[in-house]
Amino acid sequence: MQDYPTSEPKARSGIRCQSCSYDLIGVVIGDRCPECGTQVMQWASQQQSSGKAITSMVLGILAIITCLGYGILGVPCGIVAIVFAKKARLAVQDGTAPASSLGMATAGRICGWIGLILSALYLLAIIGIIVIAAVGAAAAGAAAGPFLLP
Ligand SMILES: [Zn+2]
Repeated sequence: MQDYPTSEPKARSGIRCQSCSYDLIGVVIGDRCPECGTQVMQWASQQQSSGKAITSMVLGILAIITCLGYGILGVPCGIVAIVFAKKARLAVQDGTAPASSLGMATAGRICGWIGLILSALYLLAIIGIIVIAAVGAAAAGAAAGPFLLP
């Protein structure tokens, strides 16, 4: 016989009953809600999700990677990463995401901003090159012949 408690899956902090919103912290999955008697199902352990924080971090990293070659992809990736980082932080406050996801959300926000800024600079550089090329071509055209006014 084991003389230490077995690791039964228990609802974590912030898990709330689907019926009455009672805080189910410490209630074993499969037992009943002490408040209203609703069975605590698997949803209690799945209710918390780091999905938004993971999405934010992945998109933030993508924003940095894509800005190198495709600034046009880095800008939306960066913006979405920042938005999801915000959502992830709110989810932690609401108790629908574990506090451990805050690190990923922060990483996503920082990467998102870096990617967004680098991508924006990249796009501005491309626009600048086009403008300089256009001005240069116009100047070359003006130098080559008489400047024609309309
Ligand atoms: Zn309940």
